[in-house]
Amino acid sequence: MFTPRGVGNPPPVRRDHERDQYRSARVDPGAGRFPCGLFDAVLLDRDGTLIEDVPYNGDPEKVRPVPGAREALDRLRAAGLRLAVVSNQSGLARGFFTVEDLRRVNARVEELLGPFDSWQICPHGEPDGCVCRKPAPGLVHAAARALGTLPTRCVLVGDIGADMIAAAAAGAAGVLVPTPATRAAEVAAAPAVAGDLPDAVTQILRRIHLVAAPAAPPRRGTVLVARSDAAGDVLVTGPAIRAVAAGAQRLVLLCGPRGRAAAELLPGVDEIVEWPLPWIDAPAAAVDPGDMRGLTDRLAALGAQEAVVFTSFHQSPLPLALLLRMAGIPRISAISDDYPGTLLDVRHRVPVGVPEPERALSLAAAAGHALPADDEPGLRLRADRLPPVPAGTGEPGYVVLHPGSSVESRACPPELATRIVRVLSAAGYRVVVTGGPGERELTARVAAAGGLDLGGCTGLGELAAVIARAGALVVGNTGPAHLAAALGIPVVSLFAPTVPFGQWGPYRVPTVRLGDAGAACRDTRATRCPVPGHPCLSAVEPGRVLEALRLLGVPADASEPVVAWPAVPATGGVMR
Ligand SMILES: [Zn+2]
Repeated sequence: MFTPRGVGNPPPVRRDHERDQYRSARVDPGAGRFPCGLFDAVLLDRDGTLIEDVPYNGDPEKVRPVPGAREALDRLRAAGLRLAVVSNQSGLARGFFTVEDLRRVNARVEELLGPFDSWQICPHGEPDGCVCRKPAPGLVHAAARALGTLPTRCVLVGDIGADMIAAAAAGAAGVLVPTPATRAAEVAAAPAVAGDLPDAVTQILRRIHLVAAPAAPPRRGTVLVARSDAAGDVLVTGPAIRAVAAGAQRLVLLCGPRGRAAAELLPGVDEIVEWPLPWIDAPAAAVDPGDMRGLTDRLAALGAQEAVVFTSFHQSPLPLALLLRMAGIPRISAISDDYPGTLLDVRHRVPVGVPEPERALSLAAAAGHALPADDEPGLRLRADRLPPVPAGTGEPGYVVLHPGSSVESRACPPELATRIVRVLSAAGYRVVVTGGPGERELTARVAAAGGLDLGGCTGLGELAAVIARAGALVVGNTGPAHLAAALGIPVVSLFAPTVPFGQWGPYRVPTVRLGDAGAACRDTRATRCPVPGHPCLSAVEPGRVLEALRLLGVPADASEPVVAWPAVPATGGVMR
């Protein structure tokens, strides 16, 4: 039965029991159904998502489930997922109905839709400034706690932007099911969109199935994995690389020069082969036959029994697959829409829109490699590889602003970055501005507004170390965002919509997305902003960054990172 928060009812007493159930489900794959479980729980908004929205309804007779709701929820239950309702009910604060009315309405919902494992209700009004009213993430944290899991292992289904903001701010996944009342901007900003509740459930179950590998005995020998391109690409492939490493005696990673530093930080990697692939890098170099023969010889010398070639959706694995064949590698797996002929043994295909880490995990699964049951599908780094922070960085708890990006259209406009530093520092935040050696001029200009300039002082490892001690990172859609995700550090994401947010946004880490998700550059994949003035980001008000930090529970002037919410899963370390 539901327990309204803050209106006098005792907390649910089933928590320990539920946690025990959760634990037993995790250690017993038979009970857990999915050896690599992507989610433990689905959180559902009530009005407009589970039932037709009747404003301030206190009458059980007016409860009308949305079409297909019962059957859809039963599919989630059958898959072993816990269900919770997360609902704003400001009608309580406004006196439009009583706690008893609400109890009867929720009982009617359970009568029609079956039982929920937890009810989390915000009884407050907007002026109360509580931490539970969505878009604040309090209900998501409370639901995860009540279900004995973590927000990052939950997915929230809702019908408005506040639901998606609350989910992301807690580190949970989100699926928006718009109604006619949902604003276009909310639809544009959502990480995933479904046509109706049954469709949302289908999407969630498909994502779970995609990354679940059949139980296979660990294989012996050397496995080669390839992930070319930049640091961010390598970082989001981390969970898949760990899955492959779990079943291999030795894992060799083939990466390009731009991904090398990230590859050094990944758990599970035993050896790195750095070799630029001219058909991947941009601008592309000419193909040198001697260089390709050198690469083929190097790969042949590895003696790998198997190769898994990871790519972005716009890249073809087939040129490398041909070289791997010539190097004599007997089993090759990759995602390919193009007909691979005899180049691939496992040709995998993935629907569009799946988050990149899951897309890569799904290839690992198709190749027969699952994450061990005690590993979590989030990004991770080797803590033992993090160098000390540069001298003078200061005590932990600062906010890092990383204005640059190797891709111009995804960087924070310098003028906006300057204003953000000014506003944050006036609000009492210590701001640390980071950038690569080529960005010293930029960081100096931005930090002059009131931040500490670490421009040029950090390689990728030092940058990770600096971010690891931050309260939050403010950054565009670029590599450091994925470092923060791997370290469990909340992200204020200034996300240019040139690529889909649901695919490339910070993964399984508390995040607030800012910027115009419906701007004209949307889905253009442009590397230089095609719209004069870069309006998707330059129109962001710096005050929104302050609001975002509050939603994320990151206070100003903390000598240590103060996490208002239960901490995200432990990071770093582990594995060889
Ligand atoms: Zn509240």
